[in-house]
Amino acid sequence: MAFSATEKIWQLVTHDVGIDLGTANTRISIKGQTEKIYEPSVVAVNKRTGEVLAVGVEARRMIGRTPGNIVAVRPLRDGVISDFDTTEAMIRYFIRKVHDQFPKLFGIVRPRVVIGIPSGITEVEGRAVIDAAISAGARKAYIIEEPMAAAIGAKLPIEDATGSMIVDIGGGTTDIAVISLGGIVVDNTIRVAGDEMDLEIIAYVKEKFGLLIGEKQAEDLKIAIGSAISDVEEETREIKGRDINTGLPKKVKITTSEVRSAIIKVFKIILQAIKDALEKTPPEMLSDILDRGIVLAGGGAMIKGADKYLERNLDTPVVIADEPIMAVLRGTETLLDEIELLEKIQVKDHEII
Ligand code: ADP
Ligand code: MG
Repeated sequence: MAFSATEKIWQLVTHDVGIDLGTANTRISIKGQTEKIYEPSVVAVNKRTGEVLAVGVEARRMIGRTPGNIVAVRPLRDGVISDFDTTEAMIRYFIRKVHDQFPKLFGIVRPRVVIGIPSGITEVEGRAVIDAAISAGARKAYIIEEPMAAAIGAKLPIEDATGSMIVDIGGGTTDIAVISLGGIVVDNTIRVAGDEMDLEIIAYVKEKFGLLIGEKQAEDLKIAIGSAISDVEEETREIKGRDINTGLPKKVKITTSEVRSAIIKVFKIILQAIKDALEKTPPEMLSDILDRGIVLAGGGAMIKGADKYLERNLDTPVVIADEPIMAVLRGTETLLDEIELLEKIQVKDHEII
């Protein structure tokens, strides 16, 4: 038995929705539609009144171009829901956006929604995420811990009696998990990932060149020439910013090795966190992990040599998931089709019909 009879009828008329609520990016997939929605997980808030002014791309566009009382908030930045009202506003906005693009979906037939959320969320926060989705028009909402969703998206055999390790290097957090028999056996989340690499690049450039650059430029540098290992082609990029001594605009050239010396600090922290997780892993599962390898997901998995760096330092094979940045979203898509698995591994369930 997979779906109930009523559920089968729903399946004929509705398109279910998968959401990856990431610390940096939110990704939405609508079943049966190839087009996906991508937006930054950013909310613009009026600091004085607390009013939410914009969400997603529009909120990001407001950063640095608005009067002082408007601030951009990333409510999931640290991998936990630090500011629930803002998170709720964000979920509502994203579901409304799906509604606008596919008006039938939430207007006539309400879809099921699977939302990947940071692990370690409290029960109250989980309930509130579900309520936000239901009140925005979902017929049923499920929440799934992101490492689990990422493992499913990476096609790891999460239901087997074998240990699989997934390391998801996102924007705000790196989530490390060992999964077996449909459950998370070991879970280690650190608040250090891609964003921290950007900050390390900013600090390096300031220290070495006396130049102030912004987060966007640092991120672009990391994506363009960042690497975790030295056996890559050496490249150079020009960066522009403000000279900290004169206050005037200035440009300098920065190399692959220089960028690496900044971001490697973050890789060392990630490496240690993986070692800590391996130490807590039961020995028989270590043997499974040695056989299959550690699987990398998230945007940070795309930094050149991320896999090789970890492999060399852990003496364990490391593989990058297909389209690592899409792993969590693909996991939510799979779960929409596998109702029994979804019911089993969901964090909380709430039904209104
Ligand atoms: P989250 O799930 O936390 O929202 P993502 O998995 O979307 O995070 O990853 C976002 C991080 O990945 C950001 O720090 C971003 O700079 C980084 N990133 C995205 N694409 C690349 C790339 N091609 N190379 C290196 N880093 C990347
Ligand atoms: Mg993520």
